[in-house]
Amino acid sequence: MTLARSMKSLMEGNSVIRKMFELGQEMAEKYGKEQVYDFSLGNPVASVPYEVKNAIISLLENQDPHEIHGYMKNAGFPDVRKQVAEHLEKRFGLAYSAENILMCNGAAGGLNILMRCLLDEEDEVLCFAPYFTEYKAYVSHYKAKLTVVPMRKEDFSLNLDMAEQMIKRRTKAVILNNPNNPSGIIYSEEDLRALTKILKSAEERLGHPIYLICDEPYRELAYDDREVLFMPEIYENSIYLYSFSKTLSIPGERIGYLAISDRVEEGKELMAAAVIAGRTLGFVNAPSLFQKVIGQCLDVKVDLSFYDRNRKLLYTELSEMGFSCVPPQGAFYLLMKSPMEDTDAFLKLAEEEHIILVPTDGFGLPGYFRLAYCLPYEKIEASIPAFRALAKKCQE
Ligand code: PLP
Repeated sequence: MTLARSMKSLMEGNSVIRKMFELGQEMAEKYGKEQVYDFSLGNPVASVPYEVKNAIISLLENQDPHEIHGYMKNAGFPDVRKQVAEHLEKRFGLAYSAENILMCNGAAGGLNILMRCLLDEEDEVLCFAPYFTEYKAYVSHYKAKLTVVPMRKEDFSLNLDMAEQMIKRRTKAVILNNPNNPSGIIYSEEDLRALTKILKSAEERLGHPIYLICDEPYRELAYDDREVLFMPEIYENSIYLYSFSKTLSIPGERIGYLAISDRVEEGKELMAAAVIAGRTLGFVNAPSLFQKVIGQCLDVKVDLSFYDRNRKLLYTELSEMGFSCVPPQGAFYLLMKSPMEDTDAFLKLAEEEHIILVPTDGFGLPGYFRLAYCLPYEKIEASIPAFRALAKKCQE
């Protein structure tokens, strides 16, 4: 086989989320879609807001097709970048201009661009468990290392003491995903302020910037009026990364942006590098039509109640059945502790009830399962008897 050795190891560790999703599809074909409760993939089913459709139609009908389907500057359409900058400034009160914005192919595209810009062999990126599984692959492309800070088991909060010890000379960046996939936790202001102190003192000690990459595709999905602190306000070297995948229910369109404010140390060089990285990684530019679409949809509000109903129903029912779950505060994921020592055996029992869960070993959290509740409410309701049967089986 002529494949690269590094590719082989990526293939061996191929995403368990995708594996479980494919299993769900196979089962749906075999038993019928209605008979399968697939909680594997974070593929949002809340309606795509009508503003998105209106914008697409209006752009197609009224704009020059060569403009909306053509190449533009690699960083994105200047007018859209300006709209994004103004949106951020209005919302968070921090100065941004079009030059601070790079349109990218979802959060995944943005993360890969940043890794390309920052990492040499043996450099390190820190992240907090539990973490989005793909970070590891993104970092490994450059033979760099993803250092995972264990969480505080009691409440899944940031383990700051450990983080402080784990920042080393080669640490280039810290990825912070808030609200968190897979825990559904929103990190507290107190912890985030403490984190910035740790980062600032590490920068002084090490003599180089440590970029805080704020991976926030779930920013709008914060329940019970919880605040998601805007980190660029309190930590200068924050790079803000946003994606419209989840909140506008358009993950297949691959649209998001990176915001690197003038306060970021060496930010101008980083932005210049990011533009070239996006091009040479083969993204070239973010999808042109959807740049224009989101330019018109920046103030569209997500239908939070859609997922909130699911969250409440699932958490309440599962807890009453005796499953131990982490109370979800944001995003659309729920973490359930395996009720059995043997997690594979539990996964099999769940499959027998046609419930598809994702084991979280690859998220840096063995012994748990993730349930993506971005499903129709009726589906969650229909799954409850299956969970009851599962709970009963576990007690046998
Ligand atoms: N970061 C986190 C934490 C995610 O959960 C996801 C997707 O699930 C991504 C990044 C990638 O999202 P996108 O579709 O915007 O590339």
